[in-house]
Amino acid sequence: MVEGWTSGEEAILAAFDGEQMMADLEALGEIGWVAGTGLQRMAYSPADLAGRRWVLAQMQALGMEAGIDAAGNVVGVLPGSEPLPALALGSHTDSVPGGGKYDGALGVVGALACVRTLRELAVVLRHPLLVIDFAAEEATTAASPLGSLAFVGALTVADLEGPAWKGESTRALLAESGFDAAAVAASRLPQPVGAFVELHIEQGEQLTGAGGGVGLVTGIVGIRRYFVRFVGQANHAGTTSMARRRDALVMAAPFITAVREIAVAQGIVGTVGRVDVQPGAPNVVPGCVLLDVEIRGLDELLLDAAEEALRLAAEAQGGAFTSGHCKAPVPADPALLAVVERVCRRLGVRHQPMASGAGHDAMNMARVCPYAMIFVPSEAGISHAPAEYTAPAECMDGVRVLLATLLELDRRI
Ligand SMILES: [Zn+2]
Repeated sequence: MVEGWTSGEEAILAAFDGEQMMADLEALGEIGWVAGTGLQRMAYSPADLAGRRWVLAQMQALGMEAGIDAAGNVVGVLPGSEPLPALALGSHTDSVPGGGKYDGALGVVGALACVRTLRELAVVLRHPLLVIDFAAEEATTAASPLGSLAFVGALTVADLEGPAWKGESTRALLAESGFDAAAVAASRLPQPVGAFVELHIEQGEQLTGAGGGVGLVTGIVGIRRYFVRFVGQANHAGTTSMARRRDALVMAAPFITAVREIAVAQGIVGTVGRVDVQPGAPNVVPGCVLLDVEIRGLDELLLDAAEEALRLAAEAQGGAFTSGHCKAPVPADPALLAVVERVCRRLGVRHQPMASGAGHDAMNMARVCPYAMIFVPSEAGISHAPAEYTAPAECMDGVRVLLATLLELDRRI
C-alpha cells in the first residue's frame, strides 16, 4: 500500500481506466472537427450544442442527475452521503475557431472519468459531486468566461450586448441558438460549492521545457492595459530635414523597448500589441502614435512597480500614459494547493508551481469558493490550434491527480 492512502482509495485509483478516458476525449474531439482547420465548436454553434449534448448523455449514462441550464452550462450531480457543500470538477467544451481537442475538453472528460471510477466501485462520497461543462469559456462572446460568470451571479443582461464570434451581438447569437439573454444572466450554480478543481492543459511551454509533469497553478494572472499617446508634428517626409523633425514614432520607439525591459526586470510579461501610426503614409513624418500596452502578472506589487516604471518611461519620451481595462490576479487557495501537492508526491507525479497566464472558469468560481487548477503539458506549447496535443500518459497523470485530490478533499473538508 502506498503511504498515506487508505486501501479503499488505492483501489479507486487503480480502477481508473485511462484508455476509456482517452477514447472519450477522442470521441468528443470528433464533434465539430473540420479536416484542415481543426475544432470549430464556438460557443452556441450547432457543434458546441452537440458537444454539450454528448457530455449530458455521458453524465446520464453514469447515473448522474444531469441537465443543460438556461445558459448552456451542463451540470451533472452525484449525490453524497452527508449534507455538505458540493465538491465541483469541470472545465468547458466550447472552442476557439480552429481550436484543438484538449483545451477545456480534458477537464470535462477527466471529471467524467472520476465519476465513472467511483460508480464502478459503487463508492459514495461524503460530499455531493458536481461535474460542470461551463458555457462559452473562450473569448468568442462578450463577458467570457460567460457560463461561469453567470453561475456566480456576476453576469448582467447588459454585458451580453458586446460582439460574439459571428460579428453580431452576443444577445443576437444567443437568440439565434434558442437562448434567452435574461435567462442566461439569471443562470446560477445549482447548489453551494465548497471547492472547485479544474484540470486543464497548460497552453504554454513551461512544463514541456521542464521535461513534463503537472503544473500546480498558484494563481491566474492579473491583466492591466494602458494607452500611450505620443504627439509630434506630421510633416513632409521629403522636405523636412532630420534636424527639424518631431517624429512621433521615433519618440515611441524607446518606450516600446522599455516595455520589454521593464517586464523582464519585474519578472512579469509585457506587450505592445497595437501600434497606430498617424497619418500612416510613407511620405509623411508620423505626427501621432497610439500604443496599446498590456502587462500580466500574479503579484499586485510587481504590477504596481511595472506600471510606475512604464509611466515614467512614457513621460520621459513626451508620451501621455493612461490606464484602461484592469483585472486583478486571482490566487488559488493555498490549502487546496497543498492538498494537490501532497497528492502528486504520493502518486509520484512530478510537479511544479506555476502561474496561469490565461484566464479560466476557475477565476470566476473563485468568487464563491476556493479553487485549484492542475495543468498538464502542451506539446511544444501549442494551443488554440489544431496541432494542440498532450500525450495520453500525461492526460492520464492529470486525471489521476484530479481523482486523488477529489478523494482527499472528500475526506478532509
Ligand atoms: Zn480552456
